[in-house]
Amino acid sequence: MTADVDVLIVGAGPTGLTLGIDLARRGVDALVVERAAALFPGSRGKGLQPRTMEVFDDLGVLDAIRAAGGTYPAGMIWQDGRRVGEHRMFDPAEPTEDSPYNEPWMVPQWRTQEILAARLEELGGRVVFGREAVGVEQDGDGVTVRFGDGGVLRARYAVAADGGRSAVRHALGIGMTGETVDPGPMLVADVRITGLDRDNWHVFPPRGDGEDFMAICPLAGTEDFQLVARFPEGSTPDLTLDGVRKLVAARSHLAPEDVTEVRWASDFRPRAALADAFRAGRVFLAGDAAHVHSPAGGQGLNTSVQDAYNLGWKLGAVLRDGAPAALLDTYEEERRANAAAMLGLSTSVHRGETRRGEATRQLGLHYRDASLTEETRAEPGPVRAGDRAPDATVDGVRLFDAFRGPHWTLLALGTRAPEGVAETVRVVRGAAPAFYGAGLFLVRPDGYVGWAGETGAGLTEYLARVGRH
Ligand SMILES: Cc1cc2nc3c(=O)[nH]c(=O)nc-3n(C[C@H](O)[C@H](O)[C@H](O)COP(=O)(O)OP(=O)(O)OC[C@H]3O[C@@H](n4cnc5c(N)ncnc54)[C@H](O)[C@@H]3O)c2cc1C
Repeated sequence: MTADVDVLIVGAGPTGLTLGIDLARRGVDALVVERAAALFPGSRGKGLQPRTMEVFDDLGVLDAIRAAGGTYPAGMIWQDGRRVGEHRMFDPAEPTEDSPYNEPWMVPQWRTQEILAARLEELGGRVVFGREAVGVEQDGDGVTVRFGDGGVLRARYAVAADGGRSAVRHALGIGMTGETVDPGPMLVADVRITGLDRDNWHVFPPRGDGEDFMAICPLAGTEDFQLVARFPEGSTPDLTLDGVRKLVAARSHLAPEDVTEVRWASDFRPRAALADAFRAGRVFLAGDAAHVHSPAGGQGLNTSVQDAYNLGWKLGAVLRDGAPAALLDTYEEERRANAAAMLGLSTSVHRGETRRGEATRQLGLHYRDASLTEETRAEPGPVRAGDRAPDATVDGVRLFDAFRGPHWTLLALGTRAPEGVAETVRVVRGAAPAFYGAGLFLVRPDGYVGWAGETGAGLTEYLARVGRH
């Protein structure tokens, strides 16, 4: 049975759209199918971490993301209608030469998705709306996905990017292990509201019996606010305009009529859970289908986008460049360990045990211990194989400009590049910035150093492992 597409991506959330973009720019025949009739309309995952901004730079959407959003405002604590103090949500960080994006950038999720979808279309990619995957079967050659409308599609590989309740994950029989982070339900809503300035994230601490916190954040680039409120265990938040008005009036100095519109609302119980496997044969799990987090650490969407970014080049290498299929095993190895660490972090931020800061920016994530990482130097410098390749200017070339695109890059810093390598990878030569140290650094398409050495010994063999021969 021949395949209709090389890669079928189920779900047009941030994960599916990112993967669609990465595969489209690699010339891989991919299709995104989405159950809903349109893109998701809510603001929920609104904080883009610095590492995600770097990914978006590479994918060609950074300018649009910057234009659509803004920085986070300072938190303002209210009590009985009075401002009683400012509260910084995270430790400030200045941009540096090696990390040009410093603080989280706020863009409502619906807007991020619109930008990703527009980029996908620009690259010739496709989303088909109104198609719900209901079943998955596979054999040695491919995957057959069945849809609610009775249709069937055959693909060489499929990716479950269908969110926390993933139908594909269920169809594969992959379990999800985790815990409820908080037994009290939360309400998240996009509202129009009068009587609050847009220069602050307004925080209303609990005042009395049965009440809990409420926070109202102006959403950058829109006239909306994102309202988040926690409810006592066993209660059910009222998502109607009337319900939100009552909530706001009860927990703040505002009048019910100050809430003029509820544009989107949802309720959820924060959970932290990890899929028992990120792969079953030719089907991969990515994003919320593979891990669900508390929103507190602002990690869910970011980790999801980075799953897609890790998987995209590996699928491209196997499908287009003839890389050994074993390369695909490294997706689960690298991303499941990462998601497990992120789950711990999000839960700890949710419980107030960790502040948002260095770790939540996701710049320190690395794959040093992964099987795809080869550090061949006896005495590595500050940047080692497995680390994120920092930005820098080398002989007048900005590295993030050199990395942009689907290729591999060899940095020859303070040392000579081996002969002939420029045919398979882009080469940048120059003096070594102190924060890199001298050496040869082979940078993967997703911006991590895959291999590092003093000389080119072993480089050719490594390149063959990843389909660059
Ligand atoms: C209430 C709430 C608040 C959140 N707040 C934050 C936050 O502050 N910061 C943060 O980083 N993250 C936050 N998150 C998490 C963030 O929104 C998710 O991590 C992110 O949306 C994951 O993207 P995804 O593409 O993997 O999944 P989703 O965004 O869930 O997308 C999955 C897509 O698949 C589609 N789909 C589902 N089933 C099928 C099917 N059978 N066939 C076809 N299509 C299907 C869905 O319609 C959807 O479009 C929040 C999540 C929730 C629920």
